[in-house]
Amino acid sequence: MLARSDRMEVQIMECDECGGALTTERSAVRRYTIGGLPHVELHGVEVRRCDSCGRETVGIPRIGQLHRLLAETFVKQHRMLAPVEIRFLRKHIGLSGVEFAQRMGVARETVSRWETGASPMGAVADRLLRLLVVTHQPTDNYVVDDWLKELNDMPAPDPLSSVAMQKREKGWTPRERLELAGA
Ligand SMILES: [Zn+2]
Repeated sequence: MLARSDRMEVQIMECDECGGALTTERSAVRRYTIGGLPHVELHGVEVRRCDSCGRETVGIPRIGQLHRLLAETFVKQHRMLAPVEIRFLRKHIGLSGVEFAQRMGVARETVSRWETGASPMGAVADRLLRLLVVTHQPTDNYVVDDWLKELNDMPAPDPLSSVAMQKREKGWTPRERLELAGA
């Protein structure tokens, strides 16, 4: 872009939308909407907010580790996976909609319906996706057979109950207490 390099310092402190001044909050709590997971609270993130138009930019460090932790958290839930979680997990294991449909033995349109919530995924496909995630990313944190036994096939609630992740020095960890109201 024109004349960007010589104004770099100024650019960083200005709003991309309106050029207003930015205020930085070092340790904020925000939903992970940009990651397609509005039920996930991120604690301890840095937020830059424009004083003029209110536009916010959320800085998310160690995104790879955060995504691994989220994948593990979703896979270990006892209820069925929610549409946003199906979509997240499918992308997490690096599959396109077409590739995922092929692995699951369904039509591409079926995958779309699972991910928009138009039709439920069903218990068998739900388990297969969890197994794809676990085998894609082996950890000794969970024993596959144990958590498969724990599944109760309760549908995901609507709206989804929230999940919170805390940013710490060494990376992201699960957090018990939620802070943001509503979904
Ligand atoms: Zn602005």
